[in-house]
Amino acid sequence: MSHVFPRVVTRALPTAVHAEGVWITAAGGTRYLDGAGGAVVVNVGHGVPEVIEAIERQLHATQYVHGTMFTTEALEAYADELAPLLPMDDPHLYPVSGGSEAVETALKMARSYHLARGETSRVAVIGRRSAYHGNTIGALDASGKEPLRRPYTPWLGRFPHVPAAYEYRCGNPAHPDACGAWHAGELERVISQSGEGAVAAFIAEPVAGATLAAAVPCEDYWPAVVEVCRRHGVLVIADEVMTGFGRTGRWFGVEHWGVRPDILTAGKGTTSGYVPFGFAAATGEVFTWSHNALGAAAGRAVLRVLTEGGLVERAATMGARLRADLREATADVVSVGDVRGLGMMIGVELVRDRATKEPFARADQVTERVVAAAREAGLLLYSSTGHVGGANGDLLMLGPPFCLSDDEATTLVERTVAAIRTVA
Ligand code: PMP
Repeated sequence: MSHVFPRVVTRALPTAVHAEGVWITAAGGTRYLDGAGGAVVVNVGHGVPEVIEAIERQLHATQYVHGTMFTTEALEAYADELAPLLPMDDPHLYPVSGGSEAVETALKMARSYHLARGETSRVAVIGRRSAYHGNTIGALDASGKEPLRRPYTPWLGRFPHVPAAYEYRCGNPAHPDACGAWHAGELERVISQSGEGAVAAFIAEPVAGATLAAAVPCEDYWPAVVEVCRRHGVLVIADEVMTGFGRTGRWFGVEHWGVRPDILTAGKGTTSGYVPFGFAAATGEVFTWSHNALGAAAGRAVLRVLTEGGLVERAATMGARLRADLREATADVVSVGDVRGLGMMIGVELVRDRATKEPFARADQVTERVVAAAREAGLLLYSSTGHVGGANGDLLMLGPPFCLSDDEATTLVERTVAAIRTVA
């Protein structure tokens, strides 16, 4: 009996012993195609020697030094190299250990900014329904996914929410017309309801990831909501934990709409998962594990691998191919309601009825069965359920490392479609 707190209780997990490129090998020799880079984390691929060597070199130099006592060459060089890539003016990094912590830091930065300007009443942070920003209490309160919030409801409730930018099930009665203006109106209404000068920030993922499977907003969404924020003195926080570092085919997701956020959060792809690391970009405060040189060294190597390998461009072209192939291969599968995404952030929504978009009943466990069928065939997929009405809804996510070869892409599509066909 394992002494590790289980993340899965329905089956025994295989033991991973080796990982290289887009493949993970388990004890016993079974090989899995890492179709989602874990939780859409591994951008550069597994086992990249440059990244491993950079981490080793940094470990031989320093291990832990506190951020109020020292800076490190690794961190300074990383921030210098990253700054021009961030879609922000004169960015300053506050490095932390992951996405949730980056979001918590961003929320505090927004509050600190307004306090420093004497706008002490700016407290509220507006999030979006169905969003996921992390599991710590502040990040969870900014998140809108009901099933995740439910057990902790008594601890939550400080932050209001506006509708998700979810084109497949858009809340705008006039959809697909004027959706950007409709979202802007909804945001403005919540800002007014909160009271003049009460809102500190608006937080949103450029493309909604973990909970809505790569839901790309309509073209005029971002410009419209940013205009409302600017007019009301509300800071824009772009949560780029999943979309960052090339995942959508640009360095950062907001670049698709020319948005320059006030605060930007990153995690996952920052180091491609090699070291727990992330950051909020702007100005900050003090934590024990912040300013970690090991994460910076890994992050710097990841920047180099992405740049020298042309991997961000590859994410754009390979992502388009994967979506086209998936659409073609599932054209006759009536349970595939939508294939969507940007770059190599790809979502598949499964429905009982393509015409009405009616979801399967949760009891059917469609997502779970597709993911299990894929795993049996040696393919790992990321998934989400419960986005329709708080219980139903079946989503698959593909987000393989960008080094996925053309042949591996064929295998990925074949195995994904076979798993869907087996179940749905
Ligand atoms: N924000 C977004 C957009 C995410 O996708 C996630 C993780 N799924 C987080 C924040 C939280 O990151 P972490 O799991 O590293 O705490």
